[in-house]
Amino acid sequence: MERVLITGVAGFIGSHLADYFLNKEYHVIGVDNFITGNVRNIAHLKDHPGFKFIEHDVTNPLYIDEDLHYILHFASPASPIDYLKIPIQTMKVGAMGTHNMLGLAKAKKARILVASTSEVYGDPLEHPQKETYWGNVNPVGPRGVYDEAKRYLEALTMAYHRFHGLETRIVRIFNTYGPRMRLNDGRVIPAFMGQVLRGENLTVFGDGSQTRSFCYIDDQVEGIYRLLQSDYPEPVNIGNPEEISIRDFAEEILKLSGRDDLTVTYKPLPVDDPKRRCPDITLAKRILGWEPRVSRSEGLKNTFEYFKSLPAEELYKTEHKDFSKYIKP
Ligand code: NAD
Ligand code: UDP
Repeated sequence: MERVLITGVAGFIGSHLADYFLNKEYHVIGVDNFITGNVRNIAHLKDHPGFKFIEHDVTNPLYIDEDLHYILHFASPASPIDYLKIPIQTMKVGAMGTHNMLGLAKAKKARILVASTSEVYGDPLEHPQKETYWGNVNPVGPRGVYDEAKRYLEALTMAYHRFHGLETRIVRIFNTYGPRMRLNDGRVIPAFMGQVLRGENLTVFGDGSQTRSFCYIDDQVEGIYRLLQSDYPEPVNIGNPEEISIRDFAEEILKLSGRDDLTVTYKPLPVDDPKRRCPDITLAKRILGWEPRVSRSEGLKNTFEYFKSLPAEELYKTEHKDFSKYIKP
């Protein structure tokens, strides 16, 4: 029986990865410090014989007794409002957290896959973004803490690969969505869905002409699994290449909700908000035989059902998660 360690297991993507690997009969050790995660995401695994949970901040060294075959390093705040609120923790988990996990992989002779992001392309000047594009990142802007931490994560991972011969994989994840996102995490899909469920108008930032391409979680998890099983050590984009402007997307959400009494209101565009984002997935298609299967309409329907099923108080917990215990006065 192979064993996989997943960091960030109580988060959105990490918890789906845990389910996927347990279904394939791997043993899973999940690690999280709950800084942006939620125990509800892994509550159903509490008594699963193949699952073990360790509450731990991966910016501190982690020692594991068991053999490990794979490490999936997904711990990191991922929503812009999260990493703006906890910028130093974001840099630490991308830098020290990644270093600790690479060290653990080396000690255990395990293969490690690290979660990178389309944000390494910054506000891209090339479109769609291929893996060979080096990006257009503002290192000192507010998003720099996330973008540069992930660029460092990639550089450190390649250094462990080249210097120590470690088996490494790097996934560049483009906007991914689905059940178990935090309703108040500020990302556009939970934000819009929360607004329609509360009967509020949708807040589009800027004029809404900026684009994104949304990948459903099941497709993302399948892509990550295939990349892990491949022999390709360099970064691979995993995302859905169907691009839409945020303004059109807001209309799509209004239509899905059936709330024709609601409308769109405009707010200032956050600093360095990328104008266009769309993955070129030629490489993933060629080396992994992967491409997304779930249409946006189906994925959004599933996600909307999930948000509707949450307890009503969640919907009105609009204040942002309290990070005060992680921030020294
Ligand atoms: P999330 O916030 O739901 O999950 C992140 C998890 O990591 C949380 O459970 C959090 O508590 C945990 N964590 C953070 N710092 C930690 C630390 N120091 N020690 C232990 N645990 C820690 O976010 P997500 O959307 O599931 O993102 C997961 C990963 O995927 C992140 O690395 C993120 O950068 C990457 N990613 C996600 C997207 C996306 O669209 N969802 C896009 C690009 C990249
Ligand atoms: N956005 C918006 N209204 C919201 C939240 C986000 O218009 O209430 C926009 C945001 O400015 C960005 C896009 O939606 O252009 C996607 O934002 P998100 O925070 O989901 O992630 P990003 O892709 O920027 O990392």
